[in-house]
Amino acid sequence: MDDHRDDTYEETALEEEKKPETQDGKKDDSGNDYEDVCFICRRPESKAGKMFKLPNHICVCDDCMHKTMDTVSQFDYQGLLNNPNMNDLNLNGAKGFPNISFVNLADLQGEGGIPNKQKPRKKKKAAAEIDIRKILPPHMIKQKLDEYVVGQEHAKKVMSVAVYNHYKRVATGTMDEIEIEKSNMLMIGPTGCGKTYLVKTLAKLLDVPLAIADATSLTEAGYIGDDIESVVSKLLAAADNDVERAERGIIFIDEIDKIAKKKNTNARDVSGESVQQGMLKLLEGAEVEVPVGANSKNAMVPLATVNTRNILFICGGAFPDLDEIIKQRLNKRTSIGYNAELKDKYDKEKNILNRVTVEDIRKFGMIPEFIGRLPVIFTLEGLSRDMLVQILSKPRNAILKQYQKLLELDEVELIYDEGALEAIADKAMEKETGARALRAIIEEFMLDIMYEVPKDDNIGRVTITREYIEGTGGPIIDIRSKSAEHPDRLNVVDQPAGS
Ligand code: ADP
Repeated sequence: MDDHRDDTYEETALEEEKKPETQDGKKDDSGNDYEDVCFICRRPESKAGKMFKLPNHICVCDDCMHKTMDTVSQFDYQGLLNNPNMNDLNLNGAKGFPNISFVNLADLQGEGGIPNKQKPRKKKKAAAEIDIRKILPPHMIKQKLDEYVVGQEHAKKVMSVAVYNHYKRVATGTMDEIEIEKSNMLMIGPTGCGKTYLVKTLAKLLDVPLAIADATSLTEAGYIGDDIESVVSKLLAAADNDVERAERGIIFIDEIDKIAKKKNTNARDVSGESVQQGMLKLLEGAEVEVPVGANSKNAMVPLATVNTRNILFICGGAFPDLDEIIKQRLNKRTSIGYNAELKDKYDKEKNILNRVTVEDIRKFGMIPEFIGRLPVIFTLEGLSRDMLVQILSKPRNAILKQYQKLLELDEVELIYDEGALEAIADKAMEKETGARALRAIIEEFMLDIMYEVPKDDNIGRVTITREYIEGTGGPIIDIRSKSAEHPDRLNVVDQPAGS
């Protein structure tokens, strides 16, 4: 409101020198010959329009009155009155509310920070205790995981036990002198092998909030990128800002290998080693103040204190070239002495990653303190062609089942023959992105079917064949015919192949 104040004031003063009377020559009802001037913006009545007349001969124009009212309606009076710095505001001493306080209230906004300032607070809900007897035992957790995740038997077993132990630890708290260690995990496996999917499934079946963060976006506090604590803030959001729930949630940090110590660098490693250092506190258990309902802390956002002691951290990464480090170590060991073995003995070993040790991970660039806080380390296998075929059709919410359901709503049956599944798996293997490639491939060839089938009510069944996937033929379309006796019953009649 101050932008135009000075110019207008000068303009007004000039005008007033020239014309002492109001423009139409009439005297106004206050009895003097001058126009009313707004107390706030100093514009005369001829410019600012109708004035509100307040006690002590103060006039305020329509605009300023509205702005003031808006400001007043957003104001936190309680906070203001309780604020010791506000004595000079003289709210109570002012004669009549609008007298002085209007001006000061508006000015206050510019000084910033006072309205809406809230103290960190916790939800006051009583913590719902975890009943040890209600925690799913490991074999049940694994059984549930089996319904969704194909293969990865070892990983599923390790995770089930770790999660079971973790929630037992949460349930017992620190009741006795034997404190159970936190079961934070480090999962190592190639891209698209189901790391994120395992964690998501786990969180869903345990009914705990889950935050998924990407380590590549994290930087040391104060640098461009997300603060490390932002992962806790994500978890709080996933728990609908319920601090108690968030404190029992899971945080999955993907691409953890990207924060390995940078080699051969003299510059400060703000996104590598420093991030590992910064995470130590969180992994072990610390109280962090996080903004509620926002990504960054600022004066206008309330803060909540979250204790990470019972938050389960799972880190995942592909750790490329870790196999080389393992091979080097193994070869070194076997090439010395009389028992020396062939140098390339381990070069062809398939699941060499299974032999990983803490030492290898340290060599990769993770600092010992960091690895030490992730006591459960395990690897996932790369997906084979058979596993990909199963992923297509076996899990509870397999992609093909989803398409089948969609077409079922149009009363069309969708069938994939074995050859088609293998052809899709082969195509996915070529892309080397694990199961991630599957969806893209399927979406590509299902597009035509999903577009064409609803056009024709007569189509009763569609069979996807290997030829269709490989581009050498079309799907088999079966037309339904209404039987004479039962006009509502549909019989499927086989038609020759065609697209
Ligand atoms: P990453 O290991 O890179 O985290 P994801 O877990 O994100 O890979 O896998 C991508 C997708 O592939 C998942 O959403 C899931 O649908 C599918 N997928 C991957 N691995 C499996 C598996 N073992 N069983 C079932 N589905 C899987």
